[in-house]
Amino acid sequence: MEISRKIWINDKFLNWDDANIHILTHTFHYGGGVFEGIRTYNTKKGPAVFRLPEHIDRLFYSASCLEMEIPFTKEKIKNAVLELIKINNLSECYIRPIVYFGYENMGLNPKGCPVDVGIATWPWGAYLGGREAIKVKISKYIRLHPKSIISDAKICGYYINSIFASLDAKKSGFDEALFLDFEGNIAEGPGENIFMVKDEKLFTPNSNSILKGFTRDTVINIAKDLNVEVEEKTITVEELKSADEIFFTGTAAEIQPIGTIDETIINRRKPGEITEKIKSIYQKIIHGEEDKYLKWLSFVK
Ligand code: PMP
Repeated sequence: MEISRKIWINDKFLNWDDANIHILTHTFHYGGGVFEGIRTYNTKKGPAVFRLPEHIDRLFYSASCLEMEIPFTKEKIKNAVLELIKINNLSECYIRPIVYFGYENMGLNPKGCPVDVGIATWPWGAYLGGREAIKVKISKYIRLHPKSIISDAKICGYYINSIFASLDAKKSGFDEALFLDFEGNIAEGPGENIFMVKDEKLFTPNSNSILKGFTRDTVINIAKDLNVEVEEKTITVEELKSADEIFFTGTAAEIQPIGTIDETIINRRKPGEITEKIKSIYQKIIHGEEDKYLKWLSFVK
């Protein structure tokens, strides 16, 4: 990875190589931490962070699910993100805030451990195929059961489910995995939400097993502006495989066309027309070229 100058930890800007943790950091062992993935894009008025307040709200919500008290205000974390991007002199980057239980006791219950906060930023390009339509495998692993976890929180340990699915998909020659939920319906990718187009209408799962992401919300807004009808509903494997177009959404993946689901070819393995239309408006929004959505940008001053 391309490194940056500084990493923010507990209100200090440390050199990249000095941003280390103790081996007995509680979160490192048991996954009880929370994080976010955010992106900064260049605009005519300089770098801007996309949907920063929403991401920080989700970070605090996820922390509250673990009864973690973040020792900083939301305002402080937002300002730290903006200042860090400036110090690292980045015009486009990925941002990773993480809140973790530090080193104090090793029992499973984290009570008594300090709550530490780190923020890293670095340049990070297309996460999946970018322009190409990718190959997706319906995973043999199902999405974590909503009664086993709090599905709408973004918690470090949940990602072991994603790691198993990704390893399996890559080993079988696919680019990415797709989870079904415990009822056998379409859920989401390891780090992405999914949409399908059928008869010029957009569909996305309303499953209670998924993280309903901000890119998903952005796409729903774009579709409404385009007068494309959107429906959040249960989607079966058969329905997905008969779609005209399919794409993933996520902060890292952005809008990623899908060309095959298992052995089923979608839209001749090409990005679909509606997908491309939504993608081009998404690009305009994140680069500050859509006045209506300037409200979603926090500028680095
Ligand atoms: N689902 C999961 C499991 C994720 O990790 C992510 C990435 N945060 C998403 C969906 C997409 O969320 P967002 O659009 O907010 O990045």
